[in-house]
Amino acid sequence: MPLLKATGFVLKTRSWGEGDKLATFFTREKGKIFGVVRGARKPKSHWGGALEPMTLLDLMVYEKGGRHTLTQCQIVKSFRTLRQPGISGSTALFLTELVDKLTTEEDPNPEAFNQLELALSALESGFPPLSVSLSFTLKFLNLLGFWPLMDVCASCGKRIEGGMFTFNPKSGGLICPDCQGLLSGNVSLGERTINRIKILLHSTYPELRDQAEDLELNELLLSFLRSQLGMETSKVKTFLEKLEKEQNWGNFPNSLR
Ligand SMILES: [Zn+2]
Repeated sequence: MPLLKATGFVLKTRSWGEGDKLATFFTREKGKIFGVVRGARKPKSHWGGALEPMTLLDLMVYEKGGRHTLTQCQIVKSFRTLRQPGISGSTALFLTELVDKLTTEEDPNPEAFNQLELALSALESGFPPLSVSLSFTLKFLNLLGFWPLMDVCASCGKRIEGGMFTFNPKSGGLICPDCQGLLSGNVSLGERTINRIKILLHSTYPELRDQAEDLELNELLLSFLRSQLGMETSKVKTFLEKLEKEQNWGNFPNSLR
């Protein structure tokens, strides 16, 4: 029987058929897979809380004709505290949405899987949500090959130099002074922000602390996710509103509302 063993996070579930659910898993071995979970919506379902978003599971999946059915699972880590109301939970949910949105089916990326586990563990341990979110997003985009152009103009290809940098989300990276007047939606970045990107990319999550540059960077990354990768505005907006409300980090730029 074609049985697949894998370790994976529950990204989300939805109703399926009469009393079943269709779960989206992000696994170390196979990348993103969809699995039917028989009887998951029945009142006395034996699956219990195993299908809550973010739960890390050891899975046993029956595979036939490109379809997966979950036959057994065991909770490795529930990340239960991240499902309580609060900024760490909202951030964790945003990260799982990001993974769901940007990955394709059965395209494994074990390093991206490891990064998600490290980021969720850091959030559960109370490390600063904004820097964890930014660091994961940068690392994840990089691992998936979605990294924005930072060395050459994303519009005309000319080399980028100088202390002030202009990011154009629609072009997918930094743009040169000649192209600035021709394009709308530009975001100016200081050298400190560029340096901060390097720190966020190369540090472990516990090494990070929120910094002023992070708000600027958050704006840049979220507009990049929206315009380049089609991340839904409503989810980005909800995440921003929660960050603003719960952390009182001042006002976010109007362009993001
Ligand atoms: Zn240019």
